[in-house]
Amino acid sequence: MSDALQLVRPDLRDFAGYASARRANVSGSVWLNANESPQPSLADAQGVLHRYPEPQPAELRARLAKLYGLDIEQMMVTRGSDEGIDLLVRAFCRAGIDAVLIAPPCFGMYAVSARIQNAPLVEVPLLDVDGTWTLDVAAIIAAVSERQVRLVFLCAPANPTGQALPLATTRALAQALDGRAVLVIDEAYIEYSSQDSACTLLGEFPGLVVLRTLSKAHALAGARIGAVAAAPALIAVLRNLSAPYPVPQPSARVALAALSDLALTEARLRCALAIAERMRVHAALQQSGLVRQVYASDANFLLVRFADSKAAFERLIAAGVVVRDMGAMPGLADALRITIGTREENELLLAALEGTATP
Ligand SMILES: *Cc1c(COP(=O)(O)O)cnc(C)c1O
Repeated sequence: MSDALQLVRPDLRDFAGYASARRANVSGSVWLNANESPQPSLADAQGVLHRYPEPQPAELRARLAKLYGLDIEQMMVTRGSDEGIDLLVRAFCRAGIDAVLIAPPCFGMYAVSARIQNAPLVEVPLLDVDGTWTLDVAAIIAAVSERQVRLVFLCAPANPTGQALPLATTRALAQALDGRAVLVIDEAYIEYSSQDSACTLLGEFPGLVVLRTLSKAHALAGARIGAVAAAPALIAVLRNLSAPYPVPQPSARVALAALSDLALTEARLRCALAIAERMRVHAALQQSGLVRQVYASDANFLLVRFADSKAAFERLIAAGVVVRDMGAMPGLADALRITIGTREENELLLAALEGTATP
């Protein structure tokens, strides 16, 4: 048993999950085993949705594995990263006992999933040193050895703070936590970053997990397609915990189309454009008298501190521009998170801030 499997909840180690009709390893031409309708719906133009979908759509899984440089057994397709986060917390955390560690300010879903599972939450805040966000690596390692931490969630690049996580830091953490806690690197924004993916480290560390998603750079937030990448033994555990048919067939179909060579080229162009616009908006915001600080970002958004963030937020709303108020997050009372839009949208944002926009 690898170290990572020893961290799985003892009561789940032998759990085989739901034996769905699609999982049964049988073949035939007359399908009478899943209580499906034999006729398709009028609403289903392709006439395929009366059947349950593949639990793990094979073609999509193979294509994603290739894109991320993984073996097929090293990954599973999920209903967005949200499902991956939830499965991980359920697999590793006994309610009331095994803790989840986060480095706030960070993405809210880690704490939400921990809360739903009643897993204790251990917080090791990011350090804001001279306007640069950094991980307190020593404090994370200390917390894992002092508390019953089973899962460490890090976001690279981070949301909402924007900084990249050097691969060397991920490697050092994976080494230090090996056999003690599972290290999860959430790479929702990696396509906008100059950093390499932590997927390149998976072969070395059985307790490392990487989350990827088609929601951002691949422009498919509405389709709800994500991926969990990890050692095959761990993927097998997570698959047994997942819903019988987590990936709707229409979503799998559109995701596969979004991974064609042409669509991937387009996605790279969109990313390049977002990065160019990010640099332009960053520079423009820094010139604004309303702005206190713009943090460096490796993602498709900027975290910005304002002299009066509430006034800035209201001014933007009045012009019809909706950004994310980070005021409720510890340490970000004066901050807004601004997604990079199209060039025209960014122009509207900047004009609205300077009060020259007409709604
Ligand atoms: C947007 C985002 C995701 C994506 O979640 P999906 O469920 O795949 O849409 C994951 N992690 C972080 C940090 C994000 O900001």
